[in-house]
Amino acid sequence: MCIKREKIVISGIVQGVGFRPTVYRLAKELSLSGFVSNNACGVHIEIEGENSQLEKFHNRLQSAPPPLSKIKNYAVDIIPIRKDSKFEIQLSKHNTPPTALISPDIATCDDCLREMFDPNDRRYLYPFINCTNCGPRFTILKSIPYDRALTSMSSFPLCPQCQSEYDNPTDRRFHAQPNACAVCGPQLSLHDGTTIINSENMIADVIKYLQEGKIGAIKGIGGFHLAVDPSNIKATETLRVRKGRAEKPFALMAKDIQTIKKYCYLSEEEIELLTSYKRPIVLLKKKENCTLPENIAPHNQHLGLMLAYSPVHHLLLQSEFDCLVMTSANLSEEPIVIDNQEAIDRLTGIADFFLLHNREILKRCDDSIVRVLDNKTQIIRRSRGYVPLPNFINDKITHSVLAVGGELKNSIALSRDDTVFLSQYIGDLDNPKAYDFFEETISHFSKILEIKPNYIAYDMHPEYLSTKWAKSQDLPSVAVQHHHAHMVSVMAENNYYDKAIGIILDGTGYGTDGTIWGGEVLVGDALSVERFSFLKQVRLPGGTAAIKEPWRMALAYLHATYRNDIPNDLPFMRSLDKNKIDIVYQMIDKQINSPFTSSCGRLFDAVSALLNIRQTINYDAQAAIELEAIATTGAVPTITPITINGTFIDTTELIRNIVNMILDNKPTADIALYFHYQLAEYFIAAAISAKEKYALNRVALSGGVYQNKIFYTQMLKRLQDENFSVLIHTELPTNDGGLALGQIIIADALINA
Ligand code: ZN
Ligand code: ZN
Ligand code: FE
Repeated sequence: MCIKREKIVISGIVQGVGFRPTVYRLAKELSLSGFVSNNACGVHIEIEGENSQLEKFHNRLQSAPPPLSKIKNYAVDIIPIRKDSKFEIQLSKHNTPPTALISPDIATCDDCLREMFDPNDRRYLYPFINCTNCGPRFTILKSIPYDRALTSMSSFPLCPQCQSEYDNPTDRRFHAQPNACAVCGPQLSLHDGTTIINSENMIADVIKYLQEGKIGAIKGIGGFHLAVDPSNIKATETLRVRKGRAEKPFALMAKDIQTIKKYCYLSEEEIELLTSYKRPIVLLKKKENCTLPENIAPHNQHLGLMLAYSPVHHLLLQSEFDCLVMTSANLSEEPIVIDNQEAIDRLTGIADFFLLHNREILKRCDDSIVRVLDNKTQIIRRSRGYVPLPNFINDKITHSVLAVGGELKNSIALSRDDTVFLSQYIGDLDNPKAYDFFEETISHFSKILEIKPNYIAYDMHPEYLSTKWAKSQDLPSVAVQHHHAHMVSVMAENNYYDKAIGIILDGTGYGTDGTIWGGEVLVGDALSVERFSFLKQVRLPGGTAAIKEPWRMALAYLHATYRNDIPNDLPFMRSLDKNKIDIVYQMIDKQINSPFTSSCGRLFDAVSALLNIRQTINYDAQAAIELEAIATTGAVPTITPITINGTFIDTTELIRNIVNMILDNKPTADIALYFHYQLAEYFIAAAISAKEKYALNRVALSGGVYQNKIFYTQMLKRLQDENFSVLIHTELPTNDGGLALGQIIIADALINA
């Protein structure tokens, strides 16, 4: 017999995921002694016993770790024998800097659902059921380590039965921090905005209200939702009017996959995302015979659907409804509401009733939004279920950097050693409440990750509020160009750090020359890039007004293409005031409030307006989204090969062709599809030109324009045809939500240079 004692330190996502109970059960089974504890680095085990048993222990723990865990490091040391009599779980220690990772919020598991719908179970219909494998995590966390006392469950002392589950290593709720039951745990309450509604059965009453067409504010995991019956066109319309949200799509929550199949096409990958513990909203292609009313997502070929992910959702969807409109509860562009009183104060006037509960949400965290493109995940909004999972970067980052992101779709990021943590979706910082949330997130994220940054990275745009914040701090800071950050973000996500060609296409970003960029072909690495070529600039007549009113961009492109010979009777002009058209031309001629831009997003807007699809928008990227929706039915066009000479990607010919097709009365869908395919050809030509000049074969794609499926898949196809090796985003958003990672890597490179 050979007796040994070993010290094992396991890091990664190992706290709050049932790691200690798993270790405990395994040690007991194998007759090993010692202890397991959580510390700030992760899980700390000391284990003693016969060598062959120890080997079994390692094998079994590493091959079948708890389902929600993610082992990053597993270090074993031999230490002196102590001859413990038993194996035990020790209380948390917290004295070294933490590298433990915090789990995101986890959708209710099947075991808990079974219990919740079992009339003989003591948690029958209890809306806060959870266990070691499921329940809220990130959103109820005050500080680390992840222990009940440091969560919003601290105000609910465990009843004797829950306590015994919590203490029993063989119970599936052993050390489940949010463990609760109807006797000791959180409770629902129903409110009409003025007073508490007395109700025998709150869930039944909520269902009844929804059936009557009422709008409900329902408190969930990372915030409130506004819920209505999707089949009730009037209720959805009322919600749009009250929320001031004219056409932006609403998300739906469905009971099960069968329900979703009735309305949308579903691939294996999409089912996998929908049913994952992250439970994101997945953008799915609507079936032609979809019976849901058009006003849920007007002029849109997609529906955003998610599955129920909290016990309350399952209770609401068990019988009368198979799906509900569940949209983030906020006023216009403000962050999602999380607090009971805040909900009543701010949402009265929108919601007719409130389904509240008394478990505090400490961190707001919206539903994540994802889709599948070319069999790969594209993340549009990275929040609940994903945050605060880290992005591991192989090359060690030398400095602790805080990156403050951009202005729109803001997220921040923090780095420590080889790891970058991207925050949840924060929103558009020009909204004062989103700005407060931005500041709050910086301080909370630094606190729970215990990272004290030494540097701040920010966007070069002098007017971004994140830039102004960064400059007001008492830390050395580094300015990063917007499209450079996009490019390095996708490179770092793919662990690629050599020189590459970046085709970075978005709506707006401040360029090194002080103009607005957005259709950029860059060449370089984290340390530096060259602006190899870009979309030939046009005027942005009226500045930001041109973003809201794509018809202005159509005129700007016509002006740039035809100069003094502009066709004056295109269909889209007929709905416009003749004077307004003249004023815009004058603004361009006299260069009044009409800065130059190379934006690719604005080119999509221009074409959408030219084709008379969308003249003014009421949500971000609406013109491009509707242009793409129409293009899906277009006939496959004949594409002209393009060669690029010099720096400009000149789309004059493209605009001329589109105008000629309009004048020839070609179907709008055909022209729309032609535009997508032909535009891709311009960037392919630029990439080939860069490849010849620099002998580079690697192309990085980033920027919000790649959320356009037709354009994106055409770019991928053509780049593959031309034998490029392509880097794309699969873990971070391709929109500005992914900027902060690039900012960190660039800042780190610049500091070390
Ligand atoms: Zn569970
Ligand atoms: Zn209890
Ligand atoms: Fe951008």
